[in-house]
Amino acid sequence: MAKASKKNTIKLKFDSARKLAPAPESKAGAKIDPQYDLFINGKFEKPTSKKYFASINPATEEKLSMIAEANQADVNKAVKAARGAYDKNWKKMPPAERAKYIYRIARMVQERAREFAIIETLDGGKPIRESRDFDVPTAANHFFYYAGWADKLEYAFPNRTTSPLGVAGQIIPWNFPLLMAAWKIAPALACGNTVVLKPAENTSLTALKLAEIIQEADLPPGVVNIITGAGSTGAAIVNHPDVNKIAFTGSTDVGKIIQRAIAGTDKKATLELGGKAANIIFDDAPLDQAVEGVINGIFFNQGHVCCAGSRLYVQESVFKEVVRKLKDRLETLIVGDPMDKNTDIGAINSREQLNIINNYIKIGQKEGAEMYQSSADLPKKGFYCRPTIFTNVAQSNRIAQEEIFGPVLAIQSFRTDDEVIEKANNTPYGLSAGVWTDKGSKIFNLTTKLRAGVIWANTFNKFDPTSPFGGYKESGYGREGGLHGLNTYVNVV
Ligand code: NAP
Ligand code: MG
Repeated sequence: MAKASKKNTIKLKFDSARKLAPAPESKAGAKIDPQYDLFINGKFEKPTSKKYFASINPATEEKLSMIAEANQADVNKAVKAARGAYDKNWKKMPPAERAKYIYRIARMVQERAREFAIIETLDGGKPIRESRDFDVPTAANHFFYYAGWADKLEYAFPNRTTSPLGVAGQIIPWNFPLLMAAWKIAPALACGNTVVLKPAENTSLTALKLAEIIQEADLPPGVVNIITGAGSTGAAIVNHPDVNKIAFTGSTDVGKIIQRAIAGTDKKATLELGGKAANIIFDDAPLDQAVEGVINGIFFNQGHVCCAGSRLYVQESVFKEVVRKLKDRLETLIVGDPMDKNTDIGAINSREQLNIINNYIKIGQKEGAEMYQSSADLPKKGFYCRPTIFTNVAQSNRIAQEEIFGPVLAIQSFRTDDEVIEKANNTPYGLSAGVWTDKGSKIFNLTTKLRAGVIWANTFNKFDPTSPFGGYKESGYGREGGLHGLNTYVNVV
């Protein structure tokens, strides 16, 4: 009997999820041209500078394409095209007609979703599962959502009159390239503005693919202009006298430069900047779900998320248990080829960003914090970082105060609500936070006292086009998304 049962036992050897067979997504159907020009006035044009820079795949360090570098003359052309389209066309067009174009873009993004997901992953290093299941569908949803508002502004602003601002200059970062472009372009167009958008140097490809869609959708030339280049191209947009609004998502340092540059002008601005979000676990929380939420909160997209839960506060009585569960879970995360559908943590976006993250990991150790990293093997080529957690962290440590923008979590314990509120609020940032507890009263207490623009309860990193997003303090000002996102693209009288 004993023998038989032994024979029938299926021994589940669950060493590590890393032993799964590779399941790479095919690159077929995702066409990347060897060179991309600037999208100005409905056409692709060579840059006046005649200069191009390389965009690489951070997972392999291979060159993907050459991207045009726009200089001041190109920015002037793009702004002129946007102004012309605004005056002649877009602001006069019946809103329901504008909506049709935006719906068309949404549907075309959906139709080409696979192509967008593959190119997003190749160019930026994020796992294909994320670009496929999150970035691209959420980008399409933003176009659908704001298309719906275009002819209903009188309901968004009852008993008020709205008018568009004019030309919007939009500058976006490299962590959600297509999604950020959609966040910026969709509400601007719905409200009757025209656009000059600059993607980040490292991740221009999906914005240029979006330009192809905009061309195919037959949007009047000049309504959307997409110009590529480095920080100086962004600065030329910010300083252009004929731009009426700046919408910027990026670092707090550049946000401050922009704020200084537009001081004294009548340009409007929204700034979505850095973050250092606290996830807070109370002892009455469902711990397994909370651990999963924390893992998602910091390791999703390699921690390249402004609202990443990069700090964790755990109530003392469950501290050891939570840290043990986190370490166990860390070991099962699959780090590697972003094109593999099993991968949880893909490539860091650039060598520079990897150096920044590695430097913070050293700083954490020097500051006396205790480090734990997963034992995952990293690919030989490309930019990769093991998921890392620090315990024994002091509130004043740099790893608890500064934005790392990588897969690094700083963990501290707390005893009371007041203590954790004070600790969570004690950074220069205030973009997001997470609260894990069984008690609604605790959620309400914390959400009223935490100084963060978005607070998730018993979940994390949930996004929806209908919800406003934005920060407090050095995380910026203005809200994007939802009804609030319309407000920043209209004059209201
Ligand atoms: P970044 O260096 O500030 O760059 C953001 C964008 O600004 C890029 O397109 C960049 O061009 C451009 N730029 C650089 N210098 C400029 C200047 N002087 N004037 C105008 N534009 C300029 O930020 P990043 O490193 O790409 O992105 C990471 C940061 O973005 C993090 O701090 C993160 O928290 C923040 N972020 C915030 C949110 C949010 O919603 N709050 C969302 C995502 C990211 P180049 O890329 O060519 O240099
Ligand atoms: Mg790239």
